[in-house]
Amino acid sequence: MLLELGKIIDQPGGVVPFSCEMDFSELDFGGSRPASEPVLAVGQVRNEAGVLVFTAAVDTVLHCVCDRCASPFDRPFHLDAEAILVQELMDEQNEDDRTFLLQGDAADLDEIITTVFVLNMDSKFLCREDCKGLCAACGKNLNDGPCSCKAEPDPRLAVLAQLLKDKE
Ligand SMILES: [Zn+2]
Ligand SMILES: [Zn+2]
Repeated sequence: MLLELGKIIDQPGGVVPFSCEMDFSELDFGGSRPASEPVLAVGQVRNEAGVLVFTAAVDTVLHCVCDRCASPFDRPFHLDAEAILVQELMDEQNEDDRTFLLQGDAADLDEIITTVFVLNMDSKFLCREDCKGLCAACGKNLNDGPCSCKAEPDPRLAVLAQLLKDKE
């Protein structure tokens, strides 16, 4: 979606509000597609002393799969995004992921919101911070309790076994 900014480009103090719904359900993050629900972006572009400042609150609910224990879980996602919109990119802004080029007199909301969303997505999804994960040996979800194969042999029994062995 293009947001027409012609009327505020030369008008300090001018504001153009917007509200849009994005579909990021096809966005792949390391094999999972957590943004299966619509992503809502509500914000404005404001001319602050000649600089076009984009601000938006981006909200959705992510449907994630835990990287450690593979359990599905939901997590609210909220991001306060800010960007600068320019008519021409200076050299040093080419690499800057917070500066976006206008398309004529309009802001390309799809490009801006997609970029800030992807840059702020977690690189890891954990159902909880102290998720214990799965047992490497038997695959049991250790959040549900310890598994039997993980039990260490009792050190006292090991000593006894050694004594008995020495007697032979
Ligand atoms: Zn987990
Ligand atoms: Zn186990």
